[in-house]
Amino acid sequence: MKIRVLGCGGSIGIPGEGTTSFLLDDDILIDAGTGVCNLTMAELEKIEHVFITHTHLDHICALPFLVDTVGVFRPRPLTVYASSASIQAFKNHIFNNFIWPDFTRIPAPDKGVMRYQEIHTEQSVTVGDRTVLPVEVEHTVHAFGFVADSGGQRWAFSGDTHRTDRFYEILNQMGNVSRLFIEAAFPDKEEWIADLSKHLCPSLLFSELEKLDPLCEVWISHLKPREYNAIREQLVSPAMPSRKVDLLAADMVFHF
Ligand SMILES: [Zn+2]
Ligand SMILES: [Zn+2]
Repeated sequence: MKIRVLGCGGSIGIPGEGTTSFLLDDDILIDAGTGVCNLTMAELEKIEHVFITHTHLDHICALPFLVDTVGVFRPRPLTVYASSASIQAFKNHIFNNFIWPDFTRIPAPDKGVMRYQEIHTEQSVTVGDRTVLPVEVEHTVHAFGFVADSGGQRWAFSGDTHRTDRFYEILNQMGNVSRLFIEAAFPDKEEWIADLSKHLCPSLLFSELEKLDPLCEVWISHLKPREYNAIREQLVSPAMPSRKVDLLAADMVFHF
């Protein structure tokens, strides 16, 4: 299994780095932020499955363009895997024929180029030889983190999250989770905004990581561009307790 970072920025991201999206092998997207816009047409055409953590715009804004761009040239409908709450939000607020067409009914009502697949917390989904497990995390809207594997080492992605317990419990129980991608959206001086918007800042992140098996590598995403340097300095500060973390960047590739 291969994970390619397409985008990992918060807000608009720093130049050259779009918002959250990861390509799992060639055919599965995990979130569909502006990082998707870095893909070529041939790469876009290979995507058949999109797993959505939550419906905030920085995680979904390239999905309407992806569906439209490949459109009827796709041999099978694009499957969008999301919670019931997220699917309802897509239907009501995005693919509602006002903001964007309802591609589940295009080119014909019974033959859309996109379909929804509801997923449930702690019920894994198998796609070919890959398994994706959604786990609820704490955010301002319904949100999942995901754990993916193809029989070897596992990859985990928290999505956007605040303090949470069950996600770490599951990672520790499953074992074999070699890398966790997790967010740090705000610097410590804006911890109150992190609490309000249910994100993490470095000090909150490090206290959360005390719940995680120390052998798991930790990679950080979603730094707000205006505060990028301040957040980065706090993440790598020797004053930070516990563990070393690394920053994600667009185009990094990880093999599992
Ligand atoms: Zn969010
Ligand atoms: Zn976000």
